[in-house]
Amino acid sequence: MRVAVIGAGVGGLCLAQGLVRAGIDVRVYERDPAVDNRYQGFRIGLGGPGLAALRECLPPRLHTVLDASTGQLDGSRRIVDTQLKQTGEMGEMYGGMATDRRVLRHLLLTGMPVEFGKQLTRYDELPDGTVRASFADGTNVTADLLVGADGVNSAVRRQLLPHAELVQAGFGGLLGRTTLTDRFAALVPGFGTAVQGDRVSMLLGKMQFRRPPHLAAVELAPDVALPPTSSYLRWVMMLPPDTDTSDDPREVVLDLIRDWHPILNDLVRDADTVADIGQIRYAKPVDHWGTRPVTLLGDAIHVMPPSGGLGANTAFVDAATLTRELAGGGPLPASVERYEHAMLDHGFAAVQHSLDATPQFVPTRAARR
Ligand SMILES: Cc1cc2nc3c(=O)[nH]c(=O)nc-3n(C[C@H](O)[C@H](O)[C@H](O)COP(=O)(O)OP(=O)(O)OC[C@H]3O[C@@H](n4cnc5c(N)ncnc54)[C@H](O)[C@@H]3O)c2cc1C
Repeated sequence: MRVAVIGAGVGGLCLAQGLVRAGIDVRVYERDPAVDNRYQGFRIGLGGPGLAALRECLPPRLHTVLDASTGQLDGSRRIVDTQLKQTGEMGEMYGGMATDRRVLRHLLLTGMPVEFGKQLTRYDELPDGTVRASFADGTNVTADLLVGADGVNSAVRRQLLPHAELVQAGFGGLLGRTTLTDRFAALVPGFGTAVQGDRVSMLLGKMQFRRPPHLAAVELAPDVALPPTSSYLRWVMMLPPDTDTSDDPREVVLDLIRDWHPILNDLVRDADTVADIGQIRYAKPVDHWGTRPVTLLGDAIHVMPPSGGLGANTAFVDAATLTRELAGGGPLPASVERYEHAMLDHGFAAVQHSLDATPQFVPTRAARR
């Protein structure tokens, strides 16, 4: 059996790890020309079934590198006002580990057959039951199963499920990371801190690596190449949709938080990176479509607001579920269909959970500059 995975994000790579581990022939096709050609490093919380699924897909020798290259993630989620006075708590989330998406992606790339610079443009189901994927560079490949793990704007989903709808969640975000100091670390004593202002809110999360990831890799598994990175505080400024973010994003944030506690202004001023994550969207539930030699995984099918901390975790559950089904050795269509029913159930439950959590994070009044 040949499996072609479209997209080398965390979901597609986790699936590839699982399939390689199960002895299944898999190749991954990624549109970006290289692993690091755009900013992709932000904290991702891993826990519960998502973390278990990631471990299931990774070979045991990479578990120690995963553990060493992540940080602790547990405790309370505080709500504070703009002067950092605590006003509430959101209850505990899953305990687990904090990882950096860029570091995790590098780990997941270990030993994987990935071709970069391959942007899928379309696919065709062939009379013999296989599927041909065509790329923007004029090349194509044929596989028994094509998995669209190509994220929120998935080309595979647009062709397979043209009726599937994405909904604007009604807010956008600017994301920054600032090197961790003791002063900044004190802002997040637990899982995370939400600073609620009148017009906007800021979510703070600590990414404190147990060990520098690149050094941990050198010592524990020399064939694993992890990028050097320092520990940092991740902050996300949640903004109503009418906020003009076309200027320098750092200045946009500083303008909005001018009256906030000085340490929050320092946090933004000292950031290494500030990036616009755009308007947040989520997927409306879809019914099962009738199994084809083409399926979907992760954000490509059930993208959700980041408020639940579940998007990547859910993609890992997809990856482990599909791996188990394909490794079972039964007829391919029946295996894919069982995967799809399970994936749709847990994926859209996670979307709903994330939507339910969203009001705790989003600004209540419109921001106008
Ligand atoms: C600020 C923020 C915080 C978050 N925090 C958390 C968290 O704490 N916990 C959590 O579980 N989740 C979190 N998430 C969500 C998580 O990042 C995503 O759910 C996860 O990255 C989805 O993985 P994916 O592999 O499905 O898609 P992606 O990571 O988007 O990967 C898709 C890949 O497909 C490639 N691609 C796209 N189109 C094509 C094409 N046509 N041909 C070939 N390749 C293509 C892309 O270049 C990309 O590499 C957060 C998200 C944000 C924005």
